[in-house]
Amino acid sequence: MFSVYSVVKGCCVNAEIVAIGTELLLGQNLDTNSSWLAQQLALLGIDLFAFQTVGDNEKRIEAALKLACERSQFVITTGGLGPTVDDVTRKVAGRLAQKQLVYNETIAKQIEEVFTKAGKPCPKVNLNQAFIPQGATLIPNAMGTAPGFIVKIGKNQLACLPGVPFEMKAMFENTLRPLLKTLSPSGTVIKSRVFRTTGISESLLNEKILDLFEKSTNPTVAVLAHADGVDIRLTAKAPSDAEANNLLDGLGKTIMTRVPNFIYGLDQDNLETSVGRMLMTRQMTVAVAESCTGGLISHRITQVPGSSAYFLAGWAVYSNRAKSASLGVDPKLIEGKGAVSAQVAEELARNAREKSGANIGISTTGIAGPTGGTPEKPVGLVFVGLSDEQKTQSLEFRFSGNRETIKMKASQAALELLRRHCLKLPLKD
Ligand code: AMP
Ligand code: MG
Repeated sequence: MFSVYSVVKGCCVNAEIVAIGTELLLGQNLDTNSSWLAQQLALLGIDLFAFQTVGDNEKRIEAALKLACERSQFVITTGGLGPTVDDVTRKVAGRLAQKQLVYNETIAKQIEEVFTKAGKPCPKVNLNQAFIPQGATLIPNAMGTAPGFIVKIGKNQLACLPGVPFEMKAMFENTLRPLLKTLSPSGTVIKSRVFRTTGISESLLNEKILDLFEKSTNPTVAVLAHADGVDIRLTAKAPSDAEANNLLDGLGKTIMTRVPNFIYGLDQDNLETSVGRMLMTRQMTVAVAESCTGGLISHRITQVPGSSAYFLAGWAVYSNRAKSASLGVDPKLIEGKGAVSAQVAEELARNAREKSGANIGISTTGIAGPTGGTPEKPVGLVFVGLSDEQKTQSLEFRFSGNRETIKMKASQAALELLRRHCLKLPLKD
């Protein structure tokens, strides 16, 4: 058996991940293993060359692993190490490594112990997991029965891990991470920082940072559009975490000066969390009157722990009757201007604020579709109202997308107005 540390010591590698399991191809299970492993490799500064996903089929697994081991120096598989006939990873790995599968007494004893501890007899089929390719390096599994292993395929390495995420993660942490650390001797890290924006189009954002996009190679700059906003992702590669942070801080400052009013958070932040923090620190309160968003804004605000400190009340006033009965909107106004109008949005926001005693009232009224649009008031037309003690105002939006997307965009726009109000920014740039 070769030592784990002699496997790849000192060399720099391309890695590849192969997720094995028919359930992944059927779309029944999300391949969370690959994304988790990819993040770990990035943190270790190891370049990930490719992902593959393959079903529990011997021939196809063999083809996928052959390709992976030809082009990538360190290949990690997850899945197919269970005890049943469809678990064929160890068999294929043995064949590619040109090694017999041998019965390992130590592993067999460990498997039997797992069952003894649980007070159950060990099914014979589980002892299939005690077969591993001759000469392979074992990756112990403290959380389950299937051990992993590392074999040499030509000049490259193949590490096989089980599919169960918590077993796979523990095995990576305990055995593979220390091994892989030796692959980037200088301790290279790849680190990303995401600047989250909303209310600015992808093309306009692109224009504002085009030069950075073109000339910056470390960190690299990427623009990622989502339905509720556009993210700017910086990715730095450096010999240490601190140096990667320095690079990200440097370019991050420039990014902030280019689109100062549009960035609402970093990395995993969402708008409701950012807005919640602002309301909390300013000791301000809010009430919401929702027509086309049907309660979505109230839901998003109250998803944030501690929101009871600033969220006073929410009304889903979907019908015209409810708008008048619950929030006192004049039926004549609705008749004259229409329920989807700037005036009704403003009335809703003002009355929600006054009725609840909140500092700020926000509202939505619009046409989420797919039916109900007219040439004057098409699907996607949404008015968002905002009222405080000094002023009540509204903004008009024309959103594209299906019903769900329009509702989501309307809730995002309302929360963004709230954020801008808190920061005393113009409601629209
Ligand atoms: P296996 O090791 O192939 O027997 O996989 C056991 C279980 O782990 C599967 O039934 C899935 O629930 C889960 N699993 C397998 N592969 C993955 C993956 N790539 N991502 C997340 N879960 C997985
Ligand atoms: Mg499987």
